[in-house]
Amino acid sequence: MNTNPLDRGAVEQNLLQADTAALLLALVEDTGDDALLEEYRQYISNPFTLSEDFPEGARQRIAGLAAERFVGGGFQGELVTAAPERFRRLSEEAAQRPVAEHELDLFRKEMGLLEDAFIDWTGDRPVQSDQYRVIIVGAGLSGIATAIHLKRMGIAFTIFDRYDGVGGTWLVNTYPGCAVDILSHYFSYSFHRKNDWTSYYSPQPEVLQYLREVVAEFGLEEHIRFGTTVKSAKFDEATQRWMVHVEDKEGERTEESEFFVSAVGALSAPSIPDLPGMDRFQGQIVHSAAWDPAIDVTGKRVALVGNGASANQVGPNIVDHVEHLTVMTRSPQWVTKAPKYGQHLPAGEIWTLENIEPYARWFRLRSMLAMNEAMRPNAILDPEYVARGMVNAGNEALKKQLTEFMRQELGHRQDLLPLLVPNFPPGMKRMLRDNGWCRMFQRENVELVASRAAAMDETGILDDQGNHADVDLVIFATGFKVARMVGSLSIEGPNGSLRDAWGEDDPRAYLGISVPGFPNLFILYGPNTNIGVGGSIFFQAEAQSQHIATVIRDAIQADVTRVEVREEVYSQYNDDLDAALSHMIWALPTGTTWYRNSKGRVVANMPWTSQDYWDMNRTTDLSHYNTTPRRSTRARAEDSQKALADV
Ligand code: NAP
Repeated sequence: MNTNPLDRGAVEQNLLQADTAALLLALVEDTGDDALLEEYRQYISNPFTLSEDFPEGARQRIAGLAAERFVGGGFQGELVTAAPERFRRLSEEAAQRPVAEHELDLFRKEMGLLEDAFIDWTGDRPVQSDQYRVIIVGAGLSGIATAIHLKRMGIAFTIFDRYDGVGGTWLVNTYPGCAVDILSHYFSYSFHRKNDWTSYYSPQPEVLQYLREVVAEFGLEEHIRFGTTVKSAKFDEATQRWMVHVEDKEGERTEESEFFVSAVGALSAPSIPDLPGMDRFQGQIVHSAAWDPAIDVTGKRVALVGNGASANQVGPNIVDHVEHLTVMTRSPQWVTKAPKYGQHLPAGEIWTLENIEPYARWFRLRSMLAMNEAMRPNAILDPEYVARGMVNAGNEALKKQLTEFMRQELGHRQDLLPLLVPNFPPGMKRMLRDNGWCRMFQRENVELVASRAAAMDETGILDDQGNHADVDLVIFATGFKVARMVGSLSIEGPNGSLRDAWGEDDPRAYLGISVPGFPNLFILYGPNTNIGVGGSIFFQAEAQSQHIATVIRDAIQADVTRVEVREEVYSQYNDDLDAALSHMIWALPTGTTWYRNSKGRVVANMPWTSQDYWDMNRTTDLSHYNTTPRRSTRARAEDSQKALADV
């Protein structure tokens, strides 16, 4: 029996605030009442819409039945795992489309039901595992995901992080209004669901708090060396180990490990334009990703440079406090309305998430389905449209819809519409989720300067037309050096550096993770792993860390000391990648975007669906790598010692 003291009426009131589609699925799962599903399935919305389409009477009936079930002790079982056919049936209702067999495993993972979600030894823990150590650079969400697998297997590892806390990008991005713009119930680990997010799209402090909780829950803190910068890593052929040069407040030293994992992220090195006269400016300058909490914008004249996802959150959040805001935009941006963006979850819905486990699972799945590939149909090139300078029919329709939305949002400032509506197709850059961006320009204290920031002087900032804005504070929301991947580390393989292999901004890897010539090195959020059509970076981190942990586990079990992705595996992957990317919107040579490098090659985004990428990572194993057994390592070390002695 359920021991919850709430009576049926109180439970029902809570359930009435929940998402009826997820509640219906939970109820049908729990009761097996297919007649109920038949009666109401017509009202289950397409997950992309995030809409509540159940008529009031249906909502009340479903909430009433679920309340009765709850006070009667229901919702306790793990029914979805027990009956695969039933899981498929309910999954198809959740997705509102047929679901292929291989998708069901991913659905189970997202719902926390997959048995092999954590990588583990295939037999007993091998004795030689004590001879291996892994160094991870970065205690952000990717580093944490990887560390969890290693911790569970008892593989020695250390995370080095230059900051004094965990969280990476979610630690340092503290600018006003910083929040996630992916649904929080999907912007979190599938194996560690959080049911009490206060908002559908949570503010930065809550995401950071969540990451801290995960680190505590999995006992990772003791493995993290904070305030420690990894400066370089060099692979030593004789020992087959990485010599990792680190610096902390005690000084510099070399740490050694068999495996070296970069989890430094792609959006971590701020990009600030090097403007002439910058050093003469008498006011304050800050980058959005290096916000100084001591900054008080109240009553200040502020220039905000840029109109990406960061500026979109900063601007509307400071406009009420500043005396004047000058917004400098080099190129316009599409803005879309996102359902539930900026909304708190009602208390009853949080209660339902916390108390009815099957509901929380279906809600999580529907959140994933709402996000993944939401933009993909509009991002695939249709040759007939491309010949006419467009993307496809859906993209054209979206363009009209977004233009109309922006027109409405601008109110009496219709004169700004030509300056704010892009001449490139939506999806070419990461679209802004409406945060009051266009509405902001209706304010009397806001001025749009639709041109590039070009110079600064003692009193302010100038655009490339020579227009001058007198300001006290300049906020550069000008993004990151994405294409110069892993740029903060100097990585030296046996035959040369990663920089030599990639050049300044032309990174490539197998699955974005492994590079030939760089044994025992793995990269998280590497080349072509950003999702340009809707998804979650937590999903990517899970897929990649599963892959990395699998290869490390297999290497240890086989007692090999060197794993290096096979050249033909890497080449085939990159050929397929290029071919797939050529059909995507970012291949069009229009507009500026951090998705491409200086030569126009797409280096940030992946062309795959999240499902495809997860499948690829899941089926990758040691056979994709060349390996060197331990014995020959020992022989090689002896040889090199002998050679030294002979000299
Ligand atoms: P961004 O998307 O690269 O935007 C940088 C902006 O600065 C662009 O509008 C760029 O113009 C502009 N810019 C650069 N130099 C300029 C100059 N000299 N004068 C005027 N404008 C200039 O960077 P971001 O906004 O920091 O976002 C980066 C990524 O971080 C996002 O795409 C997203 O993946 C992530 N992010 C996520 C969230 C979230 O979840 N809510 C929030 C923030 C960031 P052009 O367009 O012409 O290049």
